[in-house]
Amino acid sequence: MAFGGRKNSEAAQLAAERRQRENDAPRLTARVPELAELKLEIAEKRDGSSIAHVRRIVVATAPALFVMTCVQKGCSGGGHDLTREVVAALSRHEARFSGSSVCHGQIGPDACGGTLDYVAIASYRAAAT
Ligand SMILES: [Zn+2]
Repeated sequence: MAFGGRKNSEAAQLAAERRQRENDAPRLTARVPELAELKLEIAEKRDGSSIAHVRRIVVATAPALFVMTCVQKGCSGGGHDLTREVVAALSRHEARFSGSSVCHGQIGPDACGGTLDYVAIASYRAAAT
């Protein structure tokens, strides 16, 4: 569906789509009911240096959606979708797991290729009997 393609509304529309996607996604607690706490330590490489940040997930309300935006300047269509592997590892009740992702976006005519490494630290409640 077209909305007139006005450039200045593009960012707002992307944000709205992202919210919609988060609202539509299943809740994390529905996928992994025993999950108590989840923290992601994320390191992204940019211009040869590494940016690290920690993302604490609010388990009670979080969607089962782990999509990170790409930090590379000028990257379009990129990002890191860790949803499948993170949810799979949580389903196995792994307390600590890690992985990495390569951005498939474009910077001008070139492939972005930005990388993201993460370490996830999770704790679980004992399953109710
Ligand atoms: Zn990128």
